[in-house]
Amino acid sequence: MNRPVLIVEDEPDIAEGLRYNLEREGLRVVLAGTGEKGLEIALDKTDPPALVLLDLMLPGMSGIELCRRLRREPSTRRTPIIMLTARGSESERVAGLELGADDYVTKPFSVRELAARVKAVLRRSEESATASYEDEKLRVHFDDMHVLCEGAEVRLTRKEFALLSALARRPGKVATRTQLLDEVWGQQYYGDTRTLDVHIRRLRAKLGVCGDSIETVVGVGYRFVGCSAKAGGRRDEAPGP
Ligand code: CA
Repeated sequence: MNRPVLIVEDEPDIAEGLRYNLEREGLRVVLAGTGEKGLEIALDKTDPPALVLLDLMLPGMSGIELCRRLRREPSTRRTPIIMLTARGSESERVAGLELGADDYVTKPFSVRELAARVKAVLRRSEESATASYEDEKLRVHFDDMHVLCEGAEVRLTRKEFALLSALARRPGKVATRTQLLDEVWGQQYYGDTRTLDVHIRRLRAKLGVCGDSIETVVGVGYRFVGCSAKAGGRRDEAPGP
């Protein structure tokens, strides 16, 4: 039996709409109307969720608090989390991503698009624990700094490779600007954050036709979506700077 998708959402109409569409995609769904109930279900080791869809605006325990708890527990530390956020709650969204949530969608959202995103995140989370990233056009070998785009070697600087690895190791996951600066330049980095954008721009240029495998998430950071149509996520966000 496949592991369920846990939906933590206090609005019954939204929860039921999500359940209906995810079940149509062949996924099993469990609903929780509060953060407390969601935590209890997520930590149930007999039937742990494959993914959590988490509304941030909940009565009682907030979505952010639940996200923090899930990331603290060994059994749910790596469980993908997609946050459902209200328009204009950017600071909360960034806080959630920095706590380790994988992605977010802004309400009101298309339930069918969200179902597609859930399937993409599930597929990527199965693929991610490997020594390389590979799709139809792009290959990234994390151990030996080897990058191939349509079979041709892409020569990158150490920083460019570190940046590409930081993104490609977690396909589909949004990386905030702070996370990328910490990971690639170190915790002590206090320089100009435009450094990041400059490196992303160079990286995209060097990747050529694979350059759009790095998506800009406006106001937040970047997301690696891969280069083939199959691996591609949504393309509805603004192109890079
Ligand atoms: Ca709510």
